[in-house]
Amino acid sequence: MSARSDRVAQWLEPRTEEMVGLLSRLVAEPTENPPGTGLGRCARLLEEEMRRLGLEAELIDITGPHRLEDPYVVRGSTGDGAKLLYFHGHYDVVPAQDREQFRLRRENGELIGRGTADMKGGIVSMLYGAAAAKELGLLTNGRVVVHLVPDEETGSVVGAGHLRDHHLIDPSAVAVVTGEPSGTSIWNAARGAISLRVGFEGREAHVGQAAFGVNTFAHMVHVARPLLAYAEEMAAKPTGYPMDPGDPTGSMVVVGGICGGGSNFNVVPADAWFTVDSRFNPEEDLHAELERMRALIRDAAAEVDAKVTVEVTQFQPPAGTPAEHPAGVALARCVEEVRGEPARFAMCGGILENRWYDQLGVPAFAYGAGRLDVSHGPHERVDEQELVRTAAVYALYAADVLA
Ligand SMILES: [Zn+2]
Repeated sequence: MSARSDRVAQWLEPRTEEMVGLLSRLVAEPTENPPGTGLGRCARLLEEEMRRLGLEAELIDITGPHRLEDPYVVRGSTGDGAKLLYFHGHYDVVPAQDREQFRLRRENGELIGRGTADMKGGIVSMLYGAAAAKELGLLTNGRVVVHLVPDEETGSVVGAGHLRDHHLIDPSAVAVVTGEPSGTSIWNAARGAISLRVGFEGREAHVGQAAFGVNTFAHMVHVARPLLAYAEEMAAKPTGYPMDPGDPTGSMVVVGGICGGGSNFNVVPADAWFTVDSRFNPEEDLHAELERMRALIRDAAAEVDAKVTVEVTQFQPPAGTPAEHPAGVALARCVEEVRGEPARFAMCGGILENRWYDQLGVPAFAYGAGRLDVSHGPHERVDEQELVRTAAVYALYAADVLA
């Protein structure tokens, strides 16, 4: 360990109890999304905590059409100087399986509860990392700006989208790090997403006169077939980005995640619909893939004279920053300095809010304590020591890239 990382550890370690206390208060705010409740209370708590830690803090009211309750972007900053580093996180959580998840439990060095890993734990690490860097005088030539948004779990258009639409993301920033639970990897890439709802319109008829009807179920089956073949084809196209061991390397397309239609078993269905959801590797051109899916649907529908509509319910570009980028090399060095072993880069199988920064040309990474595979489940947890180590990584990274 270097003298510098010693100083960071000596600042953070005595504050472990304080960090656990803050996580406990954050977990107790049931910011479940959907539906997106209790967001204002949690935002005000975060603003207060930022001030307590010596950061400047403001609440940015999110107006406009949305169904969230009292949502704000919480923006904190510390340091001054020309360079800018973003820490980005979200304070909404997926719905709990049990109300007890909103009471933090502490067991054998683990902190258990909703949002501990995804990602209120990451928020605690980011706030303490920024505070450590400031208190230790490590921010010699720049600022850390922390963005905390309220709607990552339902598409992030309201929160992170607000940042982009109001030009609150500076494209000249040196990097962004989000505290999503990447385990011990650094995620330097994430997939893009397209979601579709494919609907059919036919004609209802009693089963005794079925020949008079137009069966939308038959149309749906016909149109789904080429999409299923397309899903297989995309799954066989591996990404060039490294993945965590065992994770599928192709783009993932789910045809028929939900489907429905019809009015009764003895009636020809006059309506039918199904969804298509996809996660495309960063190498794919999402506009081209959307056109391909539209063409497959259109052509198959024409073969059987089906009346079809396609609604695009989600379109999110992928994100990818090469591991060799200087901002990536610096992050890997900080991870190694704290953990004592070489850092590993991987692509996140899902989508990340990094994309909002990546679209503007800001190098974007995710690094945070906790595991993705337990994050949305009933046993969500994070290792206490990992929270502190992650805060140390953030402090060192701020010191390095803002030097
Ligand atoms: Zn998350």
